[in-house]
Amino acid sequence: MSCVATGSPLGPNRRGGLRDTARAVRCGGCGRSYEERTWLGLPLVQTLTGEAIAAHVIKWPHGVRIEIRRCARCARSIARTVEPI
Ligand SMILES: [Zn+2]
Repeated sequence: MSCVATGSPLGPNRRGGLRDTARAVRCGGCGRSYEERTWLGLPLVQTLTGEAIAAHVIKWPHGVRIEIRRCARCARSIARTVEPI
């Protein structure tokens, strides 16, 4: 039981951490990372939809778009893919 007790907190924590990392966006300019909630609070510069993206890439998953927001610290544009709900 002690093995399970010590093992189980590690699993979810690690998974949660990875999930947060996957959701978080990191600014290429200053390195500041934004969690999803913070990201949504940043000023939206542009949203690229599938049609606009398809002009630049060969294969693109249907419905996925790219949001470009401005970094609150260095004002550089950060792009993030947004999957359809
Ligand atoms: Zn930045």
